[in-house]
Amino acid sequence: MRIKTLAIVACLVALHVSAANKYQTFEWEKNSFVPFDAATTVTLECPDPAAAGWLSAHYAEWYGKAAPKVVAGAVGLKPEKGDEAYAASVGETGVKIAANTLAGTRWASYTLRQLAIAKRGTVKAEGRLLPKLKITDRPHLAFRAVHLCWFPEVRPQQMERAIRLAALLKFNYAIIEPWGMYESKKHPWWHWPNPTMTQAEVRRLVAIGKDIGITLIPQINCYGHASSSRGCTIKHSVLDIHPEYEPLFEPGGWCWCISNPETQRVLRELIAEMHENFGNPPFFHIGCDEAFGAQTCPECVKTPHAELALKHFTGLAEFIRSRGARAMMWHDMLLDKSDPRWKGFIKFGGKHATEILDGLPKDVVICDWQYWNATKDKDGKPWPTITYFKEKGFPVAGCPWMNGGVMTSMANHIAAIGGFGFIETTWHHLRGSDWEKMYKWGAYAAWGSPVSHDVSFQRSLRLVGNDMKVTDYLDTGYLNHQVPPAWWAR
Ligand SMILES: [Zn+2]
Repeated sequence: MRIKTLAIVACLVALHVSAANKYQTFEWEKNSFVPFDAATTVTLECPDPAAAGWLSAHYAEWYGKAAPKVVAGAVGLKPEKGDEAYAASVGETGVKIAANTLAGTRWASYTLRQLAIAKRGTVKAEGRLLPKLKITDRPHLAFRAVHLCWFPEVRPQQMERAIRLAALLKFNYAIIEPWGMYESKKHPWWHWPNPTMTQAEVRRLVAIGKDIGITLIPQINCYGHASSSRGCTIKHSVLDIHPEYEPLFEPGGWCWCISNPETQRVLRELIAEMHENFGNPPFFHIGCDEAFGAQTCPECVKTPHAELALKHFTGLAEFIRSRGARAMMWHDMLLDKSDPRWKGFIKFGGKHATEILDGLPKDVVICDWQYWNATKDKDGKPWPTITYFKEKGFPVAGCPWMNGGVMTSMANHIAAIGGFGFIETTWHHLRGSDWEKMYKWGAYAAWGSPVSHDVSFQRSLRLVGNDMKVTDYLDTGYLNHQVPPAWWAR
């Protein structure tokens, strides 16, 4: 049966049944496979001289002795414009890929890898099969990130799996929030004892990311969330163990004390250390969400809130700019919570929110996190807060969480208004079906493909584990345990 749909394989492949973004075409012959093995020639047309070598090396890694041969040459396919675009075909005469850059070559190879299944009839795989197909593909958003939380409870292996899986699903950035787990040599008091996010581990992950096409962005919560812990735990990564650093924080410790000049100095030193450790990426996230209880100490209350906050944020943004990068920050304190325009949307700012927003440098990327069901304002206009930041002149990223129903709508709105990008947040839900939901629906939305209800998440997750050569039971599947260990102790 020959199937032609308007949709395309952006990330996870199966039968696509609804319209995709205008840059995608996909046709394939269902149940019509050709061998994909050592006898296959993959012809690659790409102006980047590194692309053929990258493809060949990764085929060797993925397929061993059954790796197809890669040759450079004209293929007669025309990718769309853009760094990440690619076109590919699979037929009796082999596999053809055309891409404008190494990035497009990578995405093409990932799409085909997700589709390849082992040849039948043997005990061990002796080559693979690919369906006959033709694809042109490119994303509708250039910045597509996941936001990952390195909690003390999260295994480092899980962080690597999350980064690798994000790349396989064609996210091209991962923002890493350390939650007290970053090993600062400059300020070791800042992290919990025995942190697993060591500088060596960061360098290793950054290098992996560079190879597989995902840039890691560091984050430090530079205002609220200064405890590096969830509020519901009342833990504090600094004050519980090093109370001598109390002057750096507001009473209670949830926010940094931003009238203290030592706070700005310490944060700059932490930013510099982490930014360099991450290989000086083009962005640095300064957090700043949920800054509840800010400005309560005797010194902070002497200065008007907008003035104090702006001095702090502007100082950090300028410092980050001096390092050749741009600051990103959460949006919630930049919207006046009493403004009826934002009814139904997340906003925690006070009456000085607009003054703070208007004073921010215009290169700060505003990360507008909206997790609930609202998608339109009372007049029916979509995503009013995102539009507002865009109209104020800021690059704005839409940041959903677990609500799959709003991801596509949010991403499409960002694309329609020329917004900056899409950040899929995951928080403490990077496990189980929530992980699948966030990554799968988030990937479709970010790339601009229709959601497909297939089972490819598990195949993609397994490929990632295979790449890592995992051997520990805990590093398989999307849950550490299939039955809670305590169950057997009853
Ligand atoms: Zn203070």
